[in-house]
Amino acid sequence: MQPVQIIGGGIAGAEAAWQCAQAGVPVVLFEMRPGRVSPAHHTAYLGELVCSNSFGALATDRAPGLLKEELRRLGSLVIAVADAHAVPAGGALAVDRVVYSEQLTQRVANHPLITLRREEVRQIPKTGIVVFATGPLTSEPLAQHLQQLTGLDYLSFFDAASPIVEGESLDRDKVFLASRYDRGEAAYYNCPLSEAEYRAFWEALVNAEQAELKAFEHEERRFFEACLPVEELARRGYQTLRYGPLKPVGLTDPRTGRWPYACVQLRQEDKAGRLWNLVGFQTNLKWSEQRRVFQLIPGLEEAEFVRFGVMHRNTFLCSPHLIAPTLQFRSAPRLLACGQLTGTEGYTAAVAGGWLAGTNAARLARSLNPLTLPVETMAGALIDYVSTGDPKNFQPMPPNFALLPEVVPAIRQKQQRYWAYRDRALAAIDRFGRDALGRGSEREPTAV
Ligand code: FAD
Repeated sequence: MQPVQIIGGGIAGAEAAWQCAQAGVPVVLFEMRPGRVSPAHHTAYLGELVCSNSFGALATDRAPGLLKEELRRLGSLVIAVADAHAVPAGGALAVDRVVYSEQLTQRVANHPLITLRREEVRQIPKTGIVVFATGPLTSEPLAQHLQQLTGLDYLSFFDAASPIVEGESLDRDKVFLASRYDRGEAAYYNCPLSEAEYRAFWEALVNAEQAELKAFEHEERRFFEACLPVEELARRGYQTLRYGPLKPVGLTDPRTGRWPYACVQLRQEDKAGRLWNLVGFQTNLKWSEQRRVFQLIPGLEEAEFVRFGVMHRNTFLCSPHLIAPTLQFRSAPRLLACGQLTGTEGYTAAVAGGWLAGTNAARLARSLNPLTLPVETMAGALIDYVSTGDPKNFQPMPPNFALLPEVVPAIRQKQQRYWAYRDRALAAIDRFGRDALGRGSEREPTAV
């Protein structure tokens, strides 16, 4: 059998290689480190954690915790190794990063069906089943080939993203639905600010603490000239925001019948209208500062942030155009992609994509139909978002409950709603394990 070629031995690629090999299909895993290093990686280990050592919340009534539990039930290697080398982290799964990545590297490299080749892949292999798992810092030659394959507009190199909040957490007594000058459908939630509220917000914004940039990100600042962070705009003058992202003209507040002094607009992010993006709020503020400052905006006092604003290097495909829910390229089904390259965000989300891409690569090699994950699961909902979301404003997405289909009948109380999401997701993943993978109800945890 011709081996599956997996490009990138990061978090997604390591998981994909393991799942494919465990299904009995040989794999060649290409990793360019240590011969060629990315600007953020520091070691030659597979699945290196480039920054924080945390895989996020453990509790299964939190989206990252639920995703990890689903992945445990699916037999994920990365999560099993992380669990085995956890360090105390107050409710999160944080790991001893050196022992974790040493162990992960050994497990993958010693698998009898995996050949690890330390080389950079510079173009798309012409034949065979290929999984792209090259992450946010995909090397330049391969990125260029991906751009040729997909079309110029469908590969982004930079992520200048505004925060996204859950629609259910907005204060509907304060925000109003309208489009500027009532043109077309009322498409935006608008948060009106009085002059006093604007002043308090502006002062907090210009004095808020910035996130620390990596050395390579300093160099890349020049690429962002066309797209300034909201705090930088605010520093240019007290009124500047009122002529930019907080422009109030044409937005009549139904409570006063007048245009407010300033107005923040929220644009719908997903088909179901449960995720809302603060328009023009790309930012380099620390995440804790984003929460503190943006919750000063009327209507956002209790906002649940599912993603904070970022401005950093991030190579990702416009997946809704290109990728099917099986993680195959729609135009070339022998090619698959996973991890941050597909527009999921974060370590655990990369494991989920790696699991599905590796499983499906093995199925294709054995002439079996590729699988899709149930959308009621956190893993399935993430992959559904990247493969069927709105391609126009597509932005990378971490796990969050607003991606899941709503529970019926609706549950207003937040904690109970989260428990319902969790129970439904875990039942669905167990059914999937039984029906699609032919596993018994007894789970076989991945031994470490
Ligand atoms: P990666 O883990 O980056 O793996 C991709 C692999 O492909 C790398 O090993 C790379 O060397 C290899 N590769 C690239 N091109 C080629 C090629 N042509 N041939 C062969 N190999 C190649 N997420 C978090 O959850 N928490 C954080 O704290 C966090 N901090 C981040 C900080 C920075 C600076 C960056 C850039 C990202 C950060 N992320 C963080 C996002 C993080 O990158 C992802 O969560 C995760 O690493 C994605 O996994 P991946 O497997 O898709 O990519």
